[in-house]
Amino acid sequence: MITLALSKGRIFDETLPLLAAAGIEVLEDPEKSRKLILPTSQPGVRVVLVRASDVPTYVQYGGADLGVTGLDTLIEHRAEWGGATGLYQPLDLHIAKCRVSVAVRADFDYANAVRQGSRLRVASKYVNIARDFFAAKGVHVDLIKLYGSMELAPLTGLADAIVDLVSTGNTLKANNLVEVERIMDISSRLVVNQASLKLKQDRIRPIIDAFAAAVAKRTSA
Ligand code: AMP
Repeated sequence: MITLALSKGRIFDETLPLLAAAGIEVLEDPEKSRKLILPTSQPGVRVVLVRASDVPTYVQYGGADLGVTGLDTLIEHRAEWGGATGLYQPLDLHIAKCRVSVAVRADFDYANAVRQGSRLRVASKYVNIARDFFAAKGVHVDLIKLYGSMELAPLTGLADAIVDLVSTGNTLKANNLVEVERIMDISSRLVVNQASLKLKQDRIRPIIDAFAAAVAKRTSA
């Protein structure tokens, strides 16, 4: 059995066409079913639905052979493991694209605070990305780890700035926040358990190759 770990929403939706290119159709809609294990048109392939931040963990420990996860999640996971995750990362899938940015309240003078060497309170789910970014800039920060609704932090006085994912910028705008730094571009990656790749090479390779061909076709179009 080959197990693919996906998270519901954008990653699931944008992975479906890649699976189709590999001849795999997911037979149930996760928005309509409460099932966490979804069968596919190939009896030897199944999809498991996990929280986005759990995808690298499932694949690392072999709970899934493959997974699709954002580069943001992968960087944070790697930092927790000191880099040694044993995850093989063969492909940038060019899906679920967004960026990690710094945002502040529209009335906060970020440039001036940085120029004056002020100590900033920064709230984020991405504490490792934030720590590395501000360390490289030479800005002193107190990091506050949050698990969601980061936009609230500057609005309530919890923090001066947030480090969060931005796609259209609409969420920031709706909360009277402005993007002041773009830290990195994000897209989703295919990750593979290294032992699975060795032991199930004959079944996993064709999936990787089909994904790669579909990505190449789409990015050259
Ligand atoms: P937007 O309003 O389009 O800028 O989207 C921002 C909101 O969607 C934030 O709450 C982000 O955490 C979330 N978001 C945007 N892009 C992604 C992505 N590729 N994966 C997961 N969450 C995202």
